[in-house]
Amino acid sequence: MDNYLIEYLKFLKDLGIEEFPKIRLKKTKPIEKKPEKVEDVFKKMALNVAKCRACQLHEKRLNSVFGEGNPHTDLMFIGEAPGGDEDKQGRPFVGRAGQLLTKIINAMGLERSDVYIANVIKCRPPFNRDPQPEEISACWHFIEKQIELIKPKVICTLGRISTKTILMTTDAISRLRGKFGNYKGIKVMPTYHPSYLLRNPSAKKQVWEDMQKIMKFLAENSETLGEKVKKKMEEYNGKG
Ligand code: SF4
Repeated sequence: MDNYLIEYLKFLKDLGIEEFPKIRLKKTKPIEKKPEKVEDVFKKMALNVAKCRACQLHEKRLNSVFGEGNPHTDLMFIGEAPGGDEDKQGRPFVGRAGQLLTKIINAMGLERSDVYIANVIKCRPPFNRDPQPEEISACWHFIEKQIELIKPKVICTLGRISTKTILMTTDAISRLRGKFGNYKGIKVMPTYHPSYLLRNPSAKKQVWEDMQKIMKFLAENSETLGEKVKKKMEEYNGKG
């Protein structure tokens, strides 16, 4: 019997009413808490990132860079940390390297809005130096949560730092790239960072090979992106 009913019966008794009216309790559904939408969780997380002071990188940031794109995507790109342009705009991969990444995404038959783009570290390291291990460990829970909520089928790690962090390995990127690794059951394709490609254009060929492996996997396994990449693959094979 719930508390309300007990109180009500006591109240009737106090009034001297011994014969209680018949009470028909309606069956009520338990109140179900709606799960929060990923978009809403990300909005809150982005505010927390903007206020975060867990490592020294907050001191010189102009803006934190949370990440952007489709939070329901099957494909996530994860880079290392924001650079100068990203720090100014608060958006990931918007400088020259970012423009190259956009071209790569387009060459796969996709738009930036089809995928999710983020970095392991949310604030710019001074002079674009490598993030320190203590900075990565302070920031890790943000990207970990992003991956957990997005649940992509494939993560493409861009460059040495994000590959080593996600795959927890010390192997060189040149050895890791082009082969699917695994992060909590999610396929991980390591490849070179677009800023490396700007310095070493000949490596674009290898990156494109890596992207083709992702495309093939998505064509066979993604309901949302499969058709788009398949269409592009057919175009490349001369059937489009
Ligand atoms: S880099 Fe990450 S941990 Fe460091 S201040 Fe920025 S959000 Fe916080």
